[in-house]
Amino acid sequence: MDRPLLNRRLAEFGTTIFAEMSALAVRTNSLNLGQGFPDADGPEEIREAAVRALRDGRGNQYPPGPGIPELRTAVAAHQQRFYGHLGLTCDPDTEVLVTAGATEAIAASLLALLEPGDEVIALEPYYDSYAACIAMAGGTRVPVTLRPDPERGAYALDLDELRDAVTDRTRLILLNTPHNPTGTVLSRDELAEIARIARERDLLVITDEVYEHLVFEGEHLPLASFPGMRERTVTIGSAGKTFSFTGWKVGWITAAPELVAAVRSAKQFLTYVSAGPFQYAVAEALALPDSYFTALRDDLRTKRDILARGLTDAGFLVYRPAGTYFITTDIRPLGFDDGFAFCRALPERAGVVAIPNAVFYDHREQGAPFVRFAFCKSADVLQDAVGRLKTLAG
Ligand code: PMP
Ligand code: GLN
Repeated sequence: MDRPLLNRRLAEFGTTIFAEMSALAVRTNSLNLGQGFPDADGPEEIREAAVRALRDGRGNQYPPGPGIPELRTAVAAHQQRFYGHLGLTCDPDTEVLVTAGATEAIAASLLALLEPGDEVIALEPYYDSYAACIAMAGGTRVPVTLRPDPERGAYALDLDELRDAVTDRTRLILLNTPHNPTGTVLSRDELAEIARIARERDLLVITDEVYEHLVFEGEHLPLASFPGMRERTVTIGSAGKTFSFTGWKVGWITAAPELVAAVRSAKQFLTYVSAGPFQYAVAEALALPDSYFTALRDDLRTKRDILARGLTDAGFLVYRPAGTYFITTDIRPLGFDDGFAFCRALPERAGVVAIPNAVFYDHREQGAPFVRFAFCKSADVLQDAVGRLKTLAG
C-alpha cells in the first residue's frame, strides 16, 4: 500500500506534545511541569459525590444527550452567580450542552459550525487541539500572533492585526482567555474591540474560557457578555481546571439555543454522552461556596509567585501570567535558543520536564526560544524543581 494510512488533514500533527513529555517524565523519573494537571485531586466531598452516584446507580447507564438536568441547572446557576451582574445568564434546557471535556466542546463546535474552506482566526500560540480540530473540520487556520514584550514581561494582542486577518472567508474567531500558554488575560477594552470586529464582520466566536477562575490580576470577562455577542458566541468551560479533576473529562458549552442545537448535532456522533456519574459530582462542585473558588485562585497565585521567582533566579526571562497555571519563559538568557532541544535535554540535565512553546505555533521559529512550565503542583515540588533548574545557569 503506497498510500499513507493517516489522512492528509492529520498527517502534520504527529503525537501530542503532552503525551510525549509526560512519558518522558515517567521514563526519566523527572518532576513533570509539562502537561497541565494538578498533583493534588479536587475536593474530597466531590470525589465522595462521584462515589455516591456510582453506588446509587446514577449515571451508570447513558445519561441524556445534552447532559443530566442537575448539571445543566448547576452550569446555569454558576453563570448566574459569577456573570449575572454582566447580564449573562443561560437557560439550562436550551442553552447548555455537557461535553467530554473542553476538548470535545472545541471539536464539536468546529465540526458543527465550519464548512470546508472556511477560515478560522486563532490567537497564536494556541492550544494544540485547535489546529488539529480546525483541520478535521476542513477549515483553514489563520493565526494572529500574541507578541512577547520583554520589558513588561507580558504578551500583547495587536488588534489591528486581528482586524486585518478577517477576510470574506472568515467564519469564526477561536478565542482563549485566560490564554494557554502565555497566561494573558484579555482586558475589557480588548474584548470590546474583538466583539466589535465580530459584529461588524458578522463572525461567530468560540471562546475557550476553561481557566475562567484562575485569574490573578485583572478580571475574567466572558466575551458573550459584550453587546451583540450572545447570539454569536459559544462559550466553553471545564471541570478539569476549576475543580482539579482533569481525568473526569466533564466540560460544557453555553450559547444561544440555535448554537447549542448545532453543536449538539456534531457532539451526538462523537461521544453521544460521557462521564455519567461524574456529571452528578460536577453538579455539586459547581455549587461549592465562593470561598472554594477564591481559595483555588489564591493558592495558585502563591504557586505562580514561587515558580516565577525561582525561574527568574535560575536565569530565565519570565513572562508573568495574569491567569492560567502556566508560565512562559524565554531561555535565551541561559544561552539556549531551541526550546525543543532544551525540553528534550532538560530531564537529563536537571530532572525537570517542560513544554516547548514552538508546538503551539504555525511559524515554529517564532516560538523557538520559549518554554512553558506548569505550576499546578505542590509548593515542595515547585521548590525542588526551581532548585534543580538553578544548576543550568552555572
Ligand atoms: N482548552 C485549553 C486552553 C486547555 O488548556 C485545555 C487543557 N486542559 C483544554 C481546552 C482541554 O480541556 P479538557 O481537559 O476539559 O478537555
Ligand atoms: N491542557 C493541558 C495543557 O495544556 C493538557 C491537556 C492534554 O494533555 N491534552 O497542559
